[in-house]
Amino acid sequence: MTYTYERVTTPSTGLRLHLNENTAGPSPKVVAALQTLGREQLAFYPAYGDAVAACATRLDVDPGELLLTNGLDEGILAAAVAAARDRTIADPEALVVVPAFDMYAACADASGLRVIEIPSDPDFAFPRRRVLDALSGRTRVVFLTTPGNPAGGCIARDDILAVAKAAPHALVFVDEAYADFTGSTLLDEPAARALPNVVIGRTFAKAYGLAALRVGAIVGAPDTLAPLGRVIPPYSLNVCAAVALRAALEDTAYHAWYVEQVRESRALLQAALERLGVRCWPSEANFVLADFGSDARRVVDGLAALGIHVRDRSRDPACPGCVRITAGVVEHTRACIGGLEEVLCGAGS
Ligand SMILES: *Cc1c(COP(=O)(O)O)cnc(C)c1O
Repeated sequence: MTYTYERVTTPSTGLRLHLNENTAGPSPKVVAALQTLGREQLAFYPAYGDAVAACATRLDVDPGELLLTNGLDEGILAAAVAAARDRTIADPEALVVVPAFDMYAACADASGLRVIEIPSDPDFAFPRRRVLDALSGRTRVVFLTTPGNPAGGCIARDDILAVAKAAPHALVFVDEAYADFTGSTLLDEPAARALPNVVIGRTFAKAYGLAALRVGAIVGAPDTLAPLGRVIPPYSLNVCAAVALRAALEDTAYHAWYVEQVRESRALLQAALERLGVRCWPSEANFVLADFGSDARRVVDGLAALGIHVRDRSRDPACPGCVRITAGVVEHTRACIGGLEEVLCGAGS
């Protein structure tokens, strides 16, 4: 079996609620900063030590504990490649709790790791017992996501620590792509930071709206990060990404505004789904997973006809009938709710 990232093709117009992007875009200060770039800056290889320093300050870590990456995707790839390098293990494995973000299995598989998929417990709860049981000497990397994608629930800290302690020989990659929307992060958990095999992944694609510029980060002990750093090319962040990151980090008011929009949108969307009799799961991220049952295709296509793009996740493990909807700017969420009412109840009825 080959694992690949499923690329979605989307019309260039309409409301994009299918990839968990920031529906407002980045801070206007990011755009202004990009416009200051001159010809020389574009011609020179980027030195982005200042962006590393600014990011370390924001995440409250030492610059030596931080690697900036070309999107968190590159951090995931670096973790997989580094994990696969150990030639002392005959059949090295990557553990992925499914359903999950496609890139873990895609990168692990591409790096030559055997992908071990562990089904979630009912309602996408973290399958602690089964993850612990699946750990072995062959386990090289464990990918955990909190809040999870596609359901949006968090993994208890205690569960993450238990896995990391039970697999000191494996890298435990905690993907916190959506941590901005929870207000909680393993970065301020001393017990996790003390475990040398734990690395934490962050992205500036979601809350900061820099998906097109590709900026991610991984945090961990310098010795743990070193093998991952070797995988990452020296100019992985281009000059636009580095300049944008600094401007985005400076505009804390904009970030706070967007996180608040997402929280309000999430609550609106969940209330609307409940009203419409559609089951959904509690989410701490900028999206909601909803079970439309046999109506899933009709909902996705009906919304697309109205110019609203949502993500059909019905083929994911344990997700039949499920559609994932991004919760972004409140006004966009209201448009989506209007669309859902139209598709499910009939226009104007
Ligand atoms: C979107 C996403 C990423 C990718 O982030 P980029 O910085 O855009 O590469 C990583 N992990 C999860 C769980 C995501 O949903």
